[in-house]
Amino acid sequence: MAQNGEIKPVKAPSLNLPASSNTCEVSLINTTCDMTLPTISLIGPTIKGHEDLNLPTYAFYVQNKRLNKRVLFDLGTRKDWWNLPPGVVSAILSKGVSGLRIEKDVSDILKEGGVDLNTIDAVVWSHFHWDHIGNIQLFPKSVDIVVGSPFKKSFLPGYPTGKDSPFWEADFEGRNIQEIEFDDSLKIGKFRAHDYFGDGSFYLLDVPGHAPGHISALVRTTPDTFVFLGGDVCHYPGAYRPSEYIPMPETIPTETKLDKRLPMPCPCSLFTACHPDQEHSRTTPFYRVSTDPDSWYTDAVEAQKSVDKLIEFDGDENVFVAIGHDPSLQDVCDFFPKGTLNDWKQKGWKSSTHWGFVNELPIDGKPGRPPLVVGLLKDGKPYSG
Ligand SMILES: [Zn+2]
Repeated sequence: MAQNGEIKPVKAPSLNLPASSNTCEVSLINTTCDMTLPTISLIGPTIKGHEDLNLPTYAFYVQNKRLNKRVLFDLGTRKDWWNLPPGVVSAILSKGVSGLRIEKDVSDILKEGGVDLNTIDAVVWSHFHWDHIGNIQLFPKSVDIVVGSPFKKSFLPGYPTGKDSPFWEADFEGRNIQEIEFDDSLKIGKFRAHDYFGDGSFYLLDVPGHAPGHISALVRTTPDTFVFLGGDVCHYPGAYRPSEYIPMPETIPTETKLDKRLPMPCPCSLFTACHPDQEHSRTTPFYRVSTDPDSWYTDAVEAQKSVDKLIEFDGDENVFVAIGHDPSLQDVCDFFPKGTLNDWKQKGWKSSTHWGFVNELPIDGKPGRPPLVVGLLKDGKPYSG
């Protein structure tokens, strides 16, 4: 039985957000790394007509102006991806990445936006994957690397001494690595948390499953509003939406940026028709973390638990969720160097981005949007080794 009529939302549980009046300014960076991957390598079960997953890639520039500290959260992919350590390049080639194009390194995007790289204190890596670590060698040695445990044990020393390491040995030479050890003394929602600046403005969260030591972050954008920097907690908003906290309305809200091919008003039944759970198609996500043996997930069971915890944040009206690869942010938000995410609530970006992911969903088995990128590109031309 399909769900009909408007559905009353269940109240999301309290996240137990600690009080503070200290905030950070957070800017959303389009890293210019666009990818198309087989959907099944990240989420499942497969929905006919959505075999390709489109993934723009974001980084975040976080400034604590009171303490005069600046950090980055993730770096996208290095522009010359073919110069990643050989094991990483062969994984890109063998795991079915069907489209990859990078126009700029994040270090260049920052410089063009007027940021002196010497003023950056640290780069937080959500995890070790190539589409998040950028090219750290383009940053001064004074820039620390911040990671979740067990990063060092898993990936150091870098290649070639560590023959399976996804990093170059030179990435770490002369550079301080801060590995965060989480404990149970602070929890936000159901995630273990670490108050990075010690003033309540920026928390790192222990978000296990996708990769060893995977972390997300929570930035306080006003005393009572936050942006959740998800990294790869999951890869598509349809893996945490809809939920019982924000059921899918019968008609997609008009503030949603819908593609021109879609009717206005746009009934949600166009999309829920492809939902694998017809009985709960408006209150459970379309997808779960992929359990495919070739997926990019280290521990799919643990990763799904992390996504379930994320759903509580997404259901809170004071939290704007920004995962590392959400295409709908591109249609709505301001990107570095223009503006910040801080006034997201005032600008209504939570509601205007919330259902944007339906643009990617198939209708009657036909793809929503074409692939973002076709082929692995090197300097704009097909990569040939
Ligand atoms: Zn990623």
